This record gives sequence, structure tokens and C-alpha cells, in this order.
Amino acid sequence: MDFKNLISHCKEYGFIYQSSEIYDGLSAVYDYGPYGSELKNNIKQYWWKSMVQMHENIVGIDAAIFMHPKTWKASGHVDAFNDPLVDNKDSKKRYRADQLIEEYAEKIEAKIQKEVEKAKEKFGDSFDEAMYRQTNPRCLERQAEIDKVLGDLAEAMKTSDMAGLGQLIADLNITDPESGSKNWTEVRQFNLMFNTQLGNIAGEEGKLYLRPETAQGIFVNFLNVQKSTRQKIPFGIAQIGKAFRNEIVARQFIFRMREFEQMEMQFFIRPGEEMKWYEYWKETRLKWHLALGTPAEKLRFHDHDNLAHYANAAVDIQFDFPFGFRELEGIHSRTDFDLSQHQALSGKKLQYFDPELNENYVPFVVETSIGCDRMFLAMMSQALKQETVPDADGKESTRDVLKLHPCLAPVKVAVLPLLKNKEELTKAAGEVFNKLKTKFLCQYDEKDAIGRRYRRQDAIGTPYCVTIDFETLENNTVTLRDRDTLEQIRIGIDEIAGIVGEKIDFSNIL
Ligand code: ATP
Repeated sequence: MDFKNLISHCKEYGFIYQSSEIYDGLSAVYDYGPYGSELKNNIKQYWWKSMVQMHENIVGIDAAIFMHPKTWKASGHVDAFNDPLVDNKDSKKRYRADQLIEEYAEKIEAKIQKEVEKAKEKFGDSFDEAMYRQTNPRCLERQAEIDKVLGDLAEAMKTSDMAGLGQLIADLNITDPESGSKNWTEVRQFNLMFNTQLGNIAGEEGKLYLRPETAQGIFVNFLNVQKSTRQKIPFGIAQIGKAFRNEIVARQFIFRMREFEQMEMQFFIRPGEEMKWYEYWKETRLKWHLALGTPAEKLRFHDHDNLAHYANAAVDIQFDFPFGFRELEGIHSRTDFDLSQHQALSGKKLQYFDPELNENYVPFVVETSIGCDRMFLAMMSQALKQETVPDADGKESTRDVLKLHPCLAPVKVAVLPLLKNKEELTKAAGEVFNKLKTKFLCQYDEKDAIGRRYRRQDAIGTPYCVTIDFETLENNTVTLRDRDTLEQIRIGIDEIAGIVGEKIDFSNIL
């Protein structure tokens, strides 16, 4: 299903609303509705269980969003957490200079692609795309231009050369995508951290930041946690929480938000062992995604071209979103950068005594960091399907179905009396509902024809519908309808909890 339909489905069925919608919304801020918050909680639960419950040497914390301002000086965020900003003087729109240049290169790539498509049509089965790209003079010329533009961009970004970026925009004749104007301001650094003011201190001293990542709450608590839990290296600290970034351009729904949630784990290790653990966590995290039934071809690793200021190796797990492969999760070898910085600025030792080596050191860190909202979008976009299915009367109809993994589905079972106005049926259904609701989130629905009720459950991803009919009254059996196969089986009321419970049990995928 296309991206627009996905967004409207999210709203219509109570997954995601635009924040403050009655005031025309706040850009790049979203609220999760009743089903959205259930799905999000289930994603968090899966992550937490796989990290904390399944690893004896990983413990969780829940640090505050506000931190001492020196934290962000030490981490490098005050000085280096910037994006290059450029304003168009005519349209008054703001852009990221690097993205404007990347989009320019993408347009050239699109021209090459068009050329390739044309040739494919002309040459048919015998067409060799790689060969064509390597030999066709027009393709070669265009590819050389892309390489030059991206090379210049990378160089300017690496050296924080804002004037160079401005020159590149001018040289390439890049225009405002909205107005076509070339009337640009100078390119300047824009810090992505939101700030606010502490109540009882005036001026710079009292300036507080909303954390742009949850990781720093873990670093500053490294010794507290290590001492209070007596963990030995290697060990990890996990955390789920809100992070805030004043993104210059925030598009693509919940992919890039200004307030979002991260699930991060910092794994503390011996210096020199980082590549071993980096490989371990790459593999472990990919398996986590695959265990949910995500097809392997929808996930890929992407090595970073530009390493962040703290990393000596970094890879993204990208997901095939409706707008292409983009970062879903990052795995970074952060060396001892953060702990050393905090040690230097706080004047407090942040070292570990390794009894096996009989020495003190500042541990190295490998981090896994995934955006909860991006994971949500990945799961929704992969699950939402429009299908043609047979109707009860033998005809066909289309349905919107959300094929979420049963472990993630917001509602696990819908309990449906076949008819609304037969009291014996609604009473029996109520009893079944009351019995099941202590075990998992269930929904009772008696309104409309049964087919329409099934469709409503399909649209929110409920894996099972239990229907109470006249046979139920005779022998205490019900039908259990499977969302994906549409198969209906007759089972005893006492069997429902066992069958459903097995399917939604995280331990089967952990
Ligand atoms: P991008 O390059 O897409 O801006 P990033 O490399 O800055 O992402 P990290 O700093 O590695 O992202 O953050 C870790 C994870 O947090 C990302 O993999 C992503 O899932 C999530 N994330 C980062 N920024 C946002 C955002 N603005 N909205 C939603 N999720 C985000």
C-alpha cells in the first residue's frame, strides 16, 4: 500500500494522530492513539526482553531527560551536533544544504536510470545493465558528475566548510524545490539541540538541553550501575526513552520527528575487543529483526561513509521503507570517547578495575541504537496490505489487513457474538470476553454484521476473532478465525487462551 494510504490508515484506525491537530498540528510531532500506543509498547517490550531479560550481563535504567549542561559539552553535542542550514530569501523556506546537494545528485542518477530503462526496452533479454553503465558515454559522464558532486559534498562536510557548501549550491545552480528561486542566504551551522531554562538560575548558566540521545544518561551512570549491580566487563546498560532533535527539515511522517523515542544499549568492553563485539552486535540485532518475520530482502547493512565524531566503526541497519532503504538502527563502536570526555570534564574517574588483567582502564563501548518510531513505521508499512478475499456469500471483496506479528498486534483476540439481538449469544460472549481479558488485550464487538466486524479487526491487526454462535450454547465451542489465512476452526472455550497464548508469546521468538 502506498505511503499516503498508510498515513491515513494510521489516523483512521487510531494508531497515530498529528499532535495538536485542532490547532492545525505541530510539524514533525505526533501522538500515538489507542492502538498505536499498544503496538509501540509491544515493540518496546520485545526489545527490552531481548536485551535485558535474555542477557544476564545487560541491565536497564531509566534516566532523566534533563542532564547537567556539561554533559553535552563533554559529549560533543554543543560543538558538533549541527546540520548545515540554508534559507531561501524568497520562499522563506529552510533547507539542509547537504540534502539539497544530495537531491541534486539523485536527480542525475534518475536520468541515468531513465537511460537504462530505455536501453532495456530496446535490447530486451540480452541487455547487460552493468556493462551498459560502464560503457555508455552519457552514463559515464553523468556518473562522473555525481561522483564529483558527492565527493565535494563529503569534503565540505568533513571540514565543516559552510562557505564551500554555499559555493557548491551556487555552482550547481540549485534552486528552491518549491519556488524555483536561487536567492539563498549563506549556509550556516544549526545546532539540533532544543534548549530551555532552569527556573532558579538566570542566563547561560541555567541553560538546559532536552537530550538529543538517551546514551549520555547511560554513560554518566556507568560507575553507579557497575558498582550497584557488581557487573563485570563485558556488560551492557539498556534504556528506552524520549530524545529531541530540532530537525531542520522533517518529512516522511514518523520517520523524522522532533520528539521521538530511542531504544539504546551501551555495551562496555575491554579496549581492543571492539571489533569482536561490533560484529557480535551487528549479527544479533539483525537476527532480532528477522525473528519478527521481516523478509531478509527488506533489511540491509549500510556502512557509514562519514563517521560521527565519537565512532571508529559504524553501520546502519536499513529498512526498505515506502520511500526507499533508510536507517532504522545504528550500531556504533564509540571507543572510550564518551567516558573519557566525561572523566575529563567532571574530574571524576570513570574507570573499571579488571581483576583478570589486574589493571584499570576506561572501557570501550559498542552501542546499538534504534528509533522506536522508525521501528513502528517499518512494522506498519510491512504489515499493511490490501487484499481480495472471498466473502461469506461466495463473492469477492477487498480488505485492508494489518499482518503484524501476533506478538506485536495491539489487540490479540476479538470476541464477537454472531448476532447482537440474541441475548443468549451476547451473554455467552460476555462471559468468554471476561475470561480472556485477564490474559491479554481483547475486544468485545457486537455492532454490525459479522463480516464488517471481521474487517475492522483485520484493519487493526487482530490475529484472532472468536465467534460465539448457537452451537456455542449447546457444546461450549466457538469458531476461531485466523486473520491471515481466514481459516476458521471449531475449538472449545477452554482451549482459546492456550492456542492464542502460544502464538503471542515472545519466548517463541526471543
Ligand atoms: P539520520 O541520519 O536518519 O538523521 P542519525 O544517524 O542521526 O539518523 P542516530 O543518531 O544514529 O541517528 O540515532 C539512532 C536512531 O534514532 C536512528 O537509527 C533512528 O532510528 C532514530 N532517530 C534518529 N533521529 C530521529 C528522528 N528525528 N526521528 C525519529 N527517529 C530518529
